[in-house]
Amino acid sequence: MIDLSGKSAIVTGGASGIGRATAAVLAELGAGVVIADLDAERGEEVAKEVGGVFVRCDVSRAADCDAVVAAAVAAHGGVDVLFNNAGIIRRSTVLDIAEDDWDLVMAVNVKSILLMSRRVVPLMAAAGGGSIVNTGSGWGIKGGASAISYCASKGAVVNMTRAMAIDHGPQNIRVNCVCPGDTATGMLADEARQLGETVDSFYADAADRPLGRIGQPRDIAQTVAFLASDAAAFLSGAVIPVDGAGTA
Ligand code: NAD
Repeated sequence: MIDLSGKSAIVTGGASGIGRATAAVLAELGAGVVIADLDAERGEEVAKEVGGVFVRCDVSRAADCDAVVAAAVAAHGGVDVLFNNAGIIRRSTVLDIAEDDWDLVMAVNVKSILLMSRRVVPLMAAAGGGSIVNTGSGWGIKGGASAISYCASKGAVVNMTRAMAIDHGPQNIRVNCVCPGDTATGMLADEARQLGETVDSFYADAADRPLGRIGQPRDIAQTVAFLASDAAAFLSGAVIPVDGAGTA
């Protein structure tokens, strides 16, 4: 049922973790993939692995996002699937967050979706439709400790998803949000470091893990592939935890 043959996809944050796994799964299912990321070395590596195109890009910068969309059009003739996935976390409360850090997290996690989508939506509309998937977080649904800017940003991603689904549904553009729980990526290792923990001690906290494990990037990637495909033709405006019942 999930066939992405002939589709053109953009994956932001595609050099690592969830984005990297998603670029691989989308390519396995037949899509042509453009990988957009700050990290040129790893991005080029992923592009080679999946037979895709890499574009170095800071998703918080408008000109960079425009260039990514232009590259997808040049390589694949349009954009059918946009995975707005690049994201960062800073561990702090309202008492200790630097204003610059607040602005950076909001720009990378939230404004990027605006910058990418405003170029992609008209292309999708002209082509008769498309699928946008945004990466939220369990903490965008339920909140979490000591990550005030991250929780605010992911709450915004969740509700921006719903608003976009309403605005662009009439053009047959579906917009959904995946909300990963703890997933084994560089971000989780970075969080552990910011909290002064080791990756092992961080992974050992199993209280919110009914399936008895944390997520693997491919767990999220497969959900994104389904949402990207015609198998999900009537699925839009949904906020989907992919967390082994963590938020449940
Ligand atoms: P990751 O750190 O492995 O990958 C993130 C990628 O985004 C990196 O390749 C990085 O270079 C890129 N990136 C960062 N800033 C960028 C920028 N300004 N422009 C372009 N690229 C940029 O992390 P991940 O865990 O794969 O994170 C992917 C998404 O999943 C993020 O939105 C994150 O918030 C979300 N998420 C992750 C977890 C988790 O436990 N790993 C949980 C919930 C949500």
